[in-house]
Amino acid sequence: MAGPRRRTVRDLRRNNRATVLSKLYFEGPLSRQELGPLTGLSSGSISNVVSELVADGLVEEAGSVDSDGGRPRTLLRVAPGSGHLAGVDVGETRVRVELFDLSLKELARVEAPLPDGRYDAEGVVRLIADGLTRVIAEAAAAPASLIGIGIGVPGIVDASGPEGAVVHGQTIGWDAVPLESMLRAQDELLAALPLFVDNGAKTLGRAEMWFGAGRGARNAVIALIGSGVGACVIADGVPYQGSSSSAGEWGHTVLQVGGRECRCGARGCLEAYVGAEALLERWREAGGSWSAPDEEGALAELLDDPSAAGVLDETAEFLGAGIADLVNLFNPERIVVGGWAGLLLGPRLIEPVRRAAAAYALRHPLAQTTVELGRLGPDAVTVGAATLPLARFLETGGTRREPIVSGAS
Ligand SMILES: [Zn+2]
Repeated sequence: MAGPRRRTVRDLRRNNRATVLSKLYFEGPLSRQELGPLTGLSSGSISNVVSELVADGLVEEAGSVDSDGGRPRTLLRVAPGSGHLAGVDVGETRVRVELFDLSLKELARVEAPLPDGRYDAEGVVRLIADGLTRVIAEAAAAPASLIGIGIGVPGIVDASGPEGAVVHGQTIGWDAVPLESMLRAQDELLAALPLFVDNGAKTLGRAEMWFGAGRGARNAVIALIGSGVGACVIADGVPYQGSSSSAGEWGHTVLQVGGRECRCGARGCLEAYVGAEALLERWREAGGSWSAPDEEGALAELLDDPSAAGVLDETAEFLGAGIADLVNLFNPERIVVGGWAGLLLGPRLIEPVRRAAAAYALRHPLAQTTVELGRLGPDAVTVGAATLPLARFLETGGTRREPIVSGAS
């Protein structure tokens, strides 16, 4: 066993690796000279850590820049091809599995509809396992290069118990589904892989915060509007979780006491008015009809139909009132509206939504807030899911998963 002193030195080394790797990842390419002031490490430490990371294949040279009168400085970056990440979106109608390089560039994707449109947990586990095998094959990636897998699901994820992540998906009929242990039992690769499960709205939120419309904000809310409605509340730079990770269930806050029935079983939830499923139902009640077989197509028809103007005006008011609640409760500097339905409705509704939010929110917090559309497109749940193992990888200084037989002390 390692003594306390040796452990301290090892921890320090790992921390230095993590610091350099994260700086290069988020702010690179950078030269060794630039890394010094950015990390607070001595030039000797930078030189050691960089040599190690280069030897491990994690960092590579990326050209050079002239320095004032001196030798050109070599730029360094995290090598995009030095590892792979998988992101999964267990969506409302299908399961999508994507494989990314370390820069989160998509290398392969597989999409499969839910069997019979049902959320059979065993079936979803099989689709994830098959999808993972297929994207690895399609990208000709070595399974050993896979750093981890992140999975976004429509439900509350509680990972505090001994079984790992358990999903409470009240709107899809998942009552304490032990998704993590089911996945681990499915095949050897999933058994060995760092595996992260989170709510889909939260993974979308992570993606928008890292790479999209939330970038640079410390306090923000990323709203996901799809068939249902969710949100990710970012408080002081991190997702606000609550006591058992369910915080941010904005879709099930009440807009109308005793109002429309919601998929969760309660009445009058925001989701029962502005979720795509509910919005289409309201249009049908107002005499609307469509020919598309899926919600995406139906919503596009709704947007094209002048007779839906009244339903859309009402939707903007409902959504604006819901956003005003977020402003009053969380005092965010930015609210980002994403999700496939949010992005489809956005160009038409964003201005009336802003006006409605202004009518319902307190003036002072409203003046600090901007309401914007997501920038990463409707498929960003998988990107956000992949940031979960990526964040762990960067935090641990680029440590790979343990080999099956470990010789480490
Ligand atoms: Zn509800």
